[in-house]
Amino acid sequence: MRVEKVVSPPLDNNAYFLFDETSKLAAVVDPALAGKALLANSERFGVKIVYILNTHGHPDSIADDESIRSATGAKIAIFEVDAPRLEKNARGSRWFLPAPPSPIKADLLLKEGSELKLGNEVITTFHTPGHTEGSACFYVESAGALFTGDTLYAGSCGRTDVQGGSPAKMVFTLRRLKELPPDTHVYPGHGPETTMGDETWISDLAYPVV
Ligand SMILES: [Zn+2]
Repeated sequence: MRVEKVVSPPLDNNAYFLFDETSKLAAVVDPALAGKALLANSERFGVKIVYILNTHGHPDSIADDESIRSATGAKIAIFEVDAPRLEKNARGSRWFLPAPPSPIKADLLLKEGSELKLGNEVITTFHTPGHTEGSACFYVESAGALFTGDTLYAGSCGRTDVQGGSPAKMVFTLRRLKELPPDTHVYPGHGPETTMGDETWISDLAYPVV
């Protein structure tokens, strides 16, 4: 599996373009406003985008979902708990978007353990609440790759003081992710890439009393 990153201003979101070189099938993770560059990648590599994967429903991450879907017919997928955010986002304008996003209805509602196939590659969904109730990470075991959105960054985690956030749930989520193999390559929604093994600070997090 190959992964290409596109950094999308103004919030410097990382959008990922991943594809299976054998089947020539591709997926994008959190398109943000990188729709044009992601579509150009599919031309450049001669592959077809079949999935638009959202790690969560915040408006900065999902902004170009609809433009990619209408250009490619790819299916929009999001963890079921965050799906209502795709419609709710349309109600407000945001300084970081040129216009309010159109209301989006997801094609695929993901659950814990849902598997999507990209040729021979299997993309597994982990429910990882903390940044939002329905945040998810996407794991490709054969490639040792984990797409974490705004859940895990290199050296830190996503905000938990936003609507739907929970500091306590974030601790459980991060401790769970830390059980993945140390050489797991982490592709976060913002900032540089890392590996689970480098994120030693997670092991020091105390479980909250709940
Ligand atoms: Zn977010």
